Amino acid sequence: MEIQHPTTDRTGRTPEAFRQNIVNNLYYSRGANVQSASNYDIYMALSRTVRNHLVERFRRTVDMRYAVNPRFVYYLSAEYLLGRQLPQNLLYSDTGELAGAALDGSQFPMTTMIEQDVEPGLGNGGLGRLAACFLDSLATLDIPAIGYGIRYEYGIFRQEIRDGYQVEQPDEWLALDFPWEFAQPDDMIPVGFGGHAEHYHDAHGHVRARWHPAEQVMGEPHHILVPGYGTTTVNFLRLWRARATAEFDFRLFDIGDYASAVQAKVHSENISKVLYPNDNTPQGRELRLRQQYFFVACSLRDIIDRFLRCGNPIEDLAEKVVIQLNDTHPVVGIPELMRLLIDEYDLEWHAAWEITGRVFAYTCHTLMPEALEKWPVSLFERLLPRHMVIINEINRRFLADVSARYPNDYDRLSRLSLIEDGGERQVRMAHLAVVGSFSVNGVAELHSQLLKDRVLRDFYELWPERFNNKTNGVTPRRFIRLANPRLSGLISDTIGDGWLRDLDRLEQLESHAADAAFRAQWRAVKTANKVDLAAVILARTGCVVDPNSMYDVMVKRLHEYKRQLLQALHIITRYNRLVADPTLDLTPRTFIFGAKAAPGYYMAKLIIKLINAVGEVVNNDPVAGKLMKVVFLPNFNVTLGESIYPAADLSEQISMAGKEASGTGNMKFALNGALTIGTLDGANIEIRERVGAENFFHFGLTVEEVFALKAQGYRPMDYVAAAPELEKALKQIASGVFSDGDPTLFEPIIRTLLDRDEFLVLADYAAYIESQEEVDRAYRDEETWTQRAILNAARCGFFSSDRAMRQYAEEIWRVKSLPVK
Ligand SMILES: *Cc1c(COP(=O)(O)O)cnc(C)c1O
Repeated sequence: MEIQHPTTDRTGRTPEAFRQNIVNNLYYSRGANVQSASNYDIYMALSRTVRNHLVERFRRTVDMRYAVNPRFVYYLSAEYLLGRQLPQNLLYSDTGELAGAALDGSQFPMTTMIEQDVEPGLGNGGLGRLAACFLDSLATLDIPAIGYGIRYEYGIFRQEIRDGYQVEQPDEWLALDFPWEFAQPDDMIPVGFGGHAEHYHDAHGHVRARWHPAEQVMGEPHHILVPGYGTTTVNFLRLWRARATAEFDFRLFDIGDYASAVQAKVHSENISKVLYPNDNTPQGRELRLRQQYFFVACSLRDIIDRFLRCGNPIEDLAEKVVIQLNDTHPVVGIPELMRLLIDEYDLEWHAAWEITGRVFAYTCHTLMPEALEKWPVSLFERLLPRHMVIINEINRRFLADVSARYPNDYDRLSRLSLIEDGGERQVRMAHLAVVGSFSVNGVAELHSQLLKDRVLRDFYELWPERFNNKTNGVTPRRFIRLANPRLSGLISDTIGDGWLRDLDRLEQLESHAADAAFRAQWRAVKTANKVDLAAVILARTGCVVDPNSMYDVMVKRLHEYKRQLLQALHIITRYNRLVADPTLDLTPRTFIFGAKAAPGYYMAKLIIKLINAVGEVVNNDPVAGKLMKVVFLPNFNVTLGESIYPAADLSEQISMAGKEASGTGNMKFALNGALTIGTLDGANIEIRERVGAENFFHFGLTVEEVFALKAQGYRPMDYVAAAPELEKALKQIASGVFSDGDPTLFEPIIRTLLDRDEFLVLADYAAYIESQEEVDRAYRDEETWTQRAILNAARCGFFSSDRAMRQYAEEIWRVKSLPVK
């Protein structure tokens, strides 16, 4: 049989052909016809049809790469926060109009179809969303790249708000078929756990090691297509699902203990069951380490298989393969690659180490010491005995080198060691990452500097050349084009649509900021987006908000360091001012929050309750409620973000300086024409540098001032004494003004603020209030505000993830674009 590739004829580029393809998919894969079809049937048929348009490009991409054998970059991340696939794939396959025409006049409008599309929430927040933006940009830049991760059966929990409290519900994103993935159950990879390592003599009489795992689990690959925008390339994301081994099933079921056999099967499949809902705070659970090793082991096998299939010799691995580690979650890949090279491919230690050190590059995402992952040595030994031996050997050799360079500097040795002593011995994953990688990058200028100066200082002294910065970015396709079609239309009408692949072109908007007619159009876009968001707010919370008020928005994970509390104190202060003087001429504002708290993070959950409690009082106040509203939108995720970022006037980026590594929400807001009120933290600093200090409301202590204040001994009470309005707000919270007279409910919040206030909320309060007053004044001058908003967007082209990926490709990976011919 002669095999031919299907062509675009089959997938159909006319409205008739497209409609016929939907009908065919409906008929053959759903067993339905148009008369009998449900919304979901049509959605599935439509999605299949759109996916088919990408498959041809995908095959061409894969086939060409197989022929060319290029250098590949592999992005390893435990999280991907992808967002909805249907709108993206309609855009990227350029079938939006075809699909619109096909559905036009039917009882299945496109908006209904898009509502059926479930967002895969396989991440917690910024880190997972960054990974998704990077995949988008890699494909758009035609870079040979594959993402690897875990196909969690339950992604980040769905948040409901009941009586002001967060309630977590399971995210059943796979309850119905997910039409965007290809499962490959015939391509499983075995992964071992436990057991022991033994030494033996090989045929040449050399001593070698071999791992005999006690348990085996299979990794089943599923891939999701990742199309580039405006190019042929379609990359993919390969996610692993844990499956029990068939052999294992057979053995146990055969013994006759059916119930235990099923239990054992469930145990191994549990590995990919659920995403840990902690953002920035590792939980140190055995299942988590199993997840990490599971996906890394599968991915490395897959990478090496692909490499060998192209006819490359194993010694050349580092010529063709570079692996970017997204935070420490995949760092166990370093000893795993050593194990494969030594135990399975018979390389000597130093050859294996030389290759490993040229393959891996590490991105650090944090500044918080408690967020640096550590695993008990005892756990490691039990779960991954051979890896623990390898880590110890890496450490022994590393510390020997350090001793040679710094004789008798024992403090330095213990600071640098991969193993933390004192108490329970732990493996420091960030140290392992730095030792085993040729590149270590932070995610914003300030962050990278602080890594060198503080967090990883001893390593910087050893290997300064290893350290570099790559400021984060976001994809303009999802966060401008798809999220904000009105603004995209205005931008494209003004400067053409080249900005979608070259975001620096937004600069050309600058000259239009002085044009009153353009400003009016810009404002009309913002207002229309605010009207849309008001409808979402009404539907989700029952609260009526005024689109003519300023939308003051804080959406991000709930963390004390991000300081949602500071905004809450500002809101209470504003409320008190209005109550004290009802004639006060304040700028009407709608305060919009969205934030998930880790289910075990008590203080974060209490802060959610406080925000809702303050909203309850403020919104129902006959005086204040007219000039301010507080809404908490439940279940902040990518989809919700897409309707929030475009509608914001003011972006709240108010973390304590030195805590937010970069932030990416800040970029999404600025690109959609919001002005920022923010501290000099993370990428806020770079945003301010670019948009100009006059177009950014900055306040608060700098990193240096934070360190100095902490060093001299911070006393929260001093700041309370100096600010009567702050004292009043705290007294109100403490006395039950926002808890129906119950003084106990929010007592823990008051106590942390007054006792310790680790994140200097009280120290920054006065500066924040003052800056907010300036925001009020600025907002009154509509024309100038609009001009500043336009300049924010025009000057933020740098924050495209395309730019970030170009920098990684040139400065870290040395990979080249390979457009599909
Ligand atoms: C962008 C984004 C984040 C990150 O927001 P920050 O303000 O940078 O913390 C978190 N969650 C979602 C859903 C996002 O889209």
